[in-house]
Amino acid sequence: MNVWPLRFRKSGTEYLFSDDAGGFFRADQAFLERYVADGLLLSDYDFLRHGGHTFAEVGDLAHTAFAYRWSQRQAVRPELAYLILVPTLRCNLSCGYCQVSRAAEHAKGYDWTEETTEAVLRYLDQLGTSDIKIEFQGGEPLLRIDLLERVRSFCRERFASSKFVVCTNLQEMSPREWAFLEAGDTFVSTSLDGDMATHSRQRTHSAQATSKFLSNLDEAIERLGPHKVSALPTIDIDNPPDFEALINAYRSRGMRSLYLRPVNHQGFARRGRSVDADIERWNALHHAFVEHLIDLNYRIGAGLEEYYFSQCLRRALRSGADEHVDLRNPNFFASDYLVVDHDGKFYPTDEARMLSRIGRIDLSIGDVFSGLQTEKTDTLNAASLNNYDPDCVHCTFQPFCGSDLIDDISRYGRSDRAKTKTWFCRRHTSIFDHVFELMYRDDPATKHSLAQWSGVVSWGRHMAPELA
Ligand code: SF4
Repeated sequence: MNVWPLRFRKSGTEYLFSDDAGGFFRADQAFLERYVADGLLLSDYDFLRHGGHTFAEVGDLAHTAFAYRWSQRQAVRPELAYLILVPTLRCNLSCGYCQVSRAAEHAKGYDWTEETTEAVLRYLDQLGTSDIKIEFQGGEPLLRIDLLERVRSFCRERFASSKFVVCTNLQEMSPREWAFLEAGDTFVSTSLDGDMATHSRQRTHSAQATSKFLSNLDEAIERLGPHKVSALPTIDIDNPPDFEALINAYRSRGMRSLYLRPVNHQGFARRGRSVDADIERWNALHHAFVEHLIDLNYRIGAGLEEYYFSQCLRRALRSGADEHVDLRNPNFFASDYLVVDHDGKFYPTDEARMLSRIGRIDLSIGDVFSGLQTEKTDTLNAASLNNYDPDCVHCTFQPFCGSDLIDDISRYGRSDRAKTKTWFCRRHTSIFDHVFELMYRDDPATKHSLAQWSGVVSWGRHMAPELA
């Protein structure tokens, strides 16, 4: 019997093992020693066979099933169907750590020109998809609601189905903006950094402006329905919010999913910050927040989640959890989504756009006038998978993890830094260690939250295999 190669990692007093197809289990040191000494017992083989970690010969059912599971773990996006459009860089707020490299509200030269708008529509027109998703970013995109209306009307005519997300600060709303957002195919994404004091400190710099935003947010939830409004907090690790206040800001508005986003290292947010000195503090904060949710969920019977942790949990448990574009593998650029900036230039991601804007590197990959520069995307894509990375190939978490070339370039100015020394890797090692520690933790509060986060009726030991 052949055993597929297993990677292993210390996990508490035991070891966590995984194979290339994402199968995993926990076993003790004695098993590890038998495995590396080629001295497995019949009972070991039995356990491994039941877990899909073995095959008898190439092409048998077990071999084919493993190949199928491996292929399902590879994220594939066959067609471009998701565009992030930046019709203006201008914004009516000036957040301390603006992640999108804004321009002043009345600045000139930061909006799509008529020529650019027409080229954007021509570009949309030649896409092969029948099902388009458009995300309007900025700046504050509602400052150019006329452009949003043009794009939406065009897409509704051109595509069989279309969906629109407006990433807005909800600061200045008039009947025209509300009418735009009230359409059934249009959704709102905004930022809510916590309680009044935190949001004022980080974003509006005034209690009055924050009150206005909170009142608009509440009105949006009321008018559009909670399912059409999502919000994210950005966490400043130097001044983190009180957990209870942050959770209450979301819970009181019927939102059960919080996605703690660290301040991006791209764009103007990087000024005055060290490259990755804060990673240990970030990991500690994230770990403590997840533990806080586990305790709270059990006490009040809720299903609150930290979105990114849940996503990592789902990726550990099954294939196909590839909807989060920052965490998938391979993560090929310009395959299923693309960013169009205020000047019509294409970028592979919003972070690449920010990094280019501060002049550190030009990561543009074409424009709406002349199309994609495929040789540039090919170069980026060659480094956008973890399967062959010299560190990742030895990592127990490789099938569940992703890659973030743009973050590596942003922090270290290169794509070939030893992975284990990167912010991305240190963050994900910490999260996956926590994910698997929880999976094997035997207490009712943890099981309650794991069931909610993974979408199963109840969490039992069968979810996390273990060699007894
Ligand atoms: S980036 Fe780090 S955690 Fe992720 S697969 Fe590579 S080595 Fe493992």
